Amino acid sequence: MLAEIRQQLRNLPPGLRTRFAPSPTGYLHLGHAASAVFVWGIAQAIDAEIVLRIEDHDRGRVRPEYEKAIIEDLLWLGLIAKPTFFRQSDHWDRYQNKMEDARARGLVYACTCSRREIQERTGEDSREELRYDGHCRDLNHPDHQAGLRIRMEPQDLSFTDLWTGPQGQKPSEQCGDVLIRDRDGYWTYNFAVSIDDAAEDIDLIIRGQDLLSATGRQLQLRSIFAITKPLRFIHHPLIWESPERKLSKRNGSTSLRHLREQGHSAAMILGQAAHSVGLLPKPEPVAAHELKGLFA
Ligand code: GLU
Ligand code: ZN
Repeated sequence: MLAEIRQQLRNLPPGLRTRFAPSPTGYLHLGHAASAVFVWGIAQAIDAEIVLRIEDHDRGRVRPEYEKAIIEDLLWLGLIAKPTFFRQSDHWDRYQNKMEDARARGLVYACTCSRREIQERTGEDSREELRYDGHCRDLNHPDHQAGLRIRMEPQDLSFTDLWTGPQGQKPSEQCGDVLIRDRDGYWTYNFAVSIDDAAEDIDLIIRGQDLLSATGRQLQLRSIFAITKPLRFIHHPLIWESPERKLSKRNGSTSLRHLREQGHSAAMILGQAAHSVGLLPKPEPVAAHELKGLFA
């Protein structure tokens, strides 16, 4: 499997641009370190550039001290040499302009539905992904205290993921019209990330498999905004705590700061992370500049 992926990596052209996009809603943990191992390791192996993007779109959950900690941790890990990054909150006008552009084309409408109301109407279970039923499409609600959704016409999106193979998705059936701004006025992940990946000239997305199902809707948003740059995808495996639970930030014991306080070196953490996702048979130390060896 890994041998095959290494082979495919060799076929990628040099000079691609990828990104590492943490959200400052908590401290970096071992799961982030694993993701960083993929981003930096692959970028080194194929001579790609890395953009660091702080995804602070969710103003209700973001805290400035987490952003500071993320930068400190990345410097300490040796992954970045200087604190240079893009920050979503510096680009609100970017999202606003795109929203207005889509609205002028009749694609955006205000939605007052709560999660609960959507669930009740559609009979969907809270454990499943919620599909919005289009209830407010033609109700002409005012924006005040409403979310904004964008129309997702039925469209089949297919793409080949370098890790998980060929994928087919139909966002209109999976999630329905995507919420682009929530009722608190915050831009949402799928919208902001699609606009940013285009604005920052990204052409290689390396991220966890937990985001695989979001890719179709991001591709559809790109097509709505006439973004034509082709994207390549690598959705990497995650560290699993138990079969049901993705490693979560709530588990403070695996925060990188905690491991560091306990005396783990940066190379030990990167090696441990690489091991937990199957990139190393044993948890051996790997320095940041050696990550390429895992993929080359
Ligand atoms: N900000 C997202 C996260 O922390 C990553 C988004 C992405 O890579 O598309 O999980
Ligand atoms: Zn609605």
